[in-house]
Amino acid sequence: MSDRSRIEWTEATWNPVTGCDRVSSGCDNCYAMTLARRLKAMGAPKYQQDGDPRTSGSGFAVTIHPDSLEQPRRWRSSRTVFVNSMSDLFHAKVPTSFIRDVFDVMVDTPRHVYQVLTKRPLRASRIAGQLPWPSNVWLGVSIENMDVAHRVDHLRRVPAAVRFLSCEPLLGSLDGLDLADIDWVIAGGESGHGYRPMDIRWARDIRDACLSASVPFFFKQWGGRTPKSLGRDLDGQTWDQMPEPSAGHERRLSPAKPMGSGAAHL
Ligand code: SF4
Repeated sequence: MSDRSRIEWTEATWNPVTGCDRVSSGCDNCYAMTLARRLKAMGAPKYQQDGDPRTSGSGFAVTIHPDSLEQPRRWRSSRTVFVNSMSDLFHAKVPTSFIRDVFDVMVDTPRHVYQVLTKRPLRASRIAGQLPWPSNVWLGVSIENMDVAHRVDHLRRVPAAVRFLSCEPLLGSLDGLDLADIDWVIAGGESGHGYRPMDIRWARDIRDACLSASVPFFFKQWGGRTPKSLGRDLDGQTWDQMPEPSAGHERRLSPAKPMGSGAAHL
């Protein structure tokens, strides 16, 4: 499989872990789970283990791939790299020692920018003190509606140089979401068979919240039967804002604060 990505906000993908389990409504139409089933049928070696059929699927068992760890070292020119487009690095089944191995590679290859996206920021915050947080590692959480807004609180406890939100698939209003200490927001609608349409008010609300908080905003797509079927203009404009390169500043681990009552997805 090519390591070049068709995702608008990144350039390459790196999958030292594959497979996952659904944790919230944003996972209902998980593209990675569908793709894993196809890759297993095609004989792709990374996708031969089946996950629990209640939460995962064919070819989608959480599996670590030590032989994929070296891949970014071979990329000579700098890239923006989406880490684990086919999994969640902070899944409970990924050993902390392996997460550290992934971070070691990211530390050793500062020419690349790494975007780690998780729906399990509670674990990330719990083990944050055991990991290095170089300025080329960005950490993001997926927020599909306010039911999972507590993920942003966990993210704020992690000293990542850039903290970002992926509001995709956007499934509800994010009115009232706290954007304090957030450096970038991506939003987009769901695509594919059975997609859940996005209300224009939800997109406008999160854009306007970013404008008023001076947070860069990236509008990826409206979604639909295909990712491009309904375009990506919002009120006649494309929104391709990214964090400034200098946004990758060092952050220190903040002292533990009492968290809200949101359920942990572990
Ligand atoms: S957390 Fe991500 S990879 Fe895992 S099931 Fe949900 S959408 Fe898929």
